[in-house]
Amino acid sequence: MPVIFIGHGSPMNVLRDNAFTRQLRAWGKALPRPAAILSISAHWLTPESTQLGVQASPETIHDFGGFPQALHEMIYPAPGSPALAREAAALLHANPAGTTEEWGLDHGTWTVLHHLYPKADIPVFQLSIDYAKPADFHYRLGREISALRSRGVLIMGSGNVVHNLRATDRGASDAPRASRPWAQAFDDAVKKALATRDDPALIAYEGFGESARMAVPTPDHYFPLLYALGAATRDERAVSTFEGFQAGTLSMRCLQFGA
Ligand code: ZN
Repeated sequence: MPVIFIGHGSPMNVLRDNAFTRQLRAWGKALPRPAAILSISAHWLTPESTQLGVQASPETIHDFGGFPQALHEMIYPAPGSPALAREAAALLHANPAGTTEEWGLDHGTWTVLHHLYPKADIPVFQLSIDYAKPADFHYRLGREISALRSRGVLIMGSGNVVHNLRATDRGASDAPRASRPWAQAFDDAVKKALATRDDPALIAYEGFGESARMAVPTPDHYFPLLYALGAATRDERAVSTFEGFQAGTLSMRCLQFGA
């Protein structure tokens, strides 16, 4: 199975028909059909531990406020995969993970899967992000779970390469280029490092300088990229299936590793 990374942006994308969501629709048809999907979402952060969701029927979590009622009423009724989730937990030797039924599918997962796999008929389970750990930890965890690919599991990171909600330009239309130089600079730097699979530079992303400080003020939306990167073998090219910006500075870059 390939490994993918999705820049998810605003939950409103789930209701929208735009270049980004149309790309997700086409992408879902082009990808091989997975046995299950393992999602690492920017929106499930657990301090001091890594957790795997083992619910048989994960609930749709509306972890946002101030959006239209239609969004709050949406559900993504995909089944879970307790067996594969436990298998994933067993793979994490160096840093043991726990299992839980306390989570479900947060909007980093279901708003994009709604477009990628609209039938919601593929089992989905989530892996949490231990927010107390540094960048290289998340990359190494990605490597540990990569064995699931041969079991037919699609590993999906869901975040955003550039994500600074204090520095978005509300009302800006979707565009191929960012409205602010630092957002474009960081997205370009990541793109360049991906092209040569310079994983060390992507792990030490603060080394990209001032643009990194603005683009990744907190690492929650960047870390899912490191899981995808770690789960991809070093010889797999990173193909950008989508690039562009929403709200001026949110990079919607999406990636696929492997065919
Ligand atoms: Zn988000």
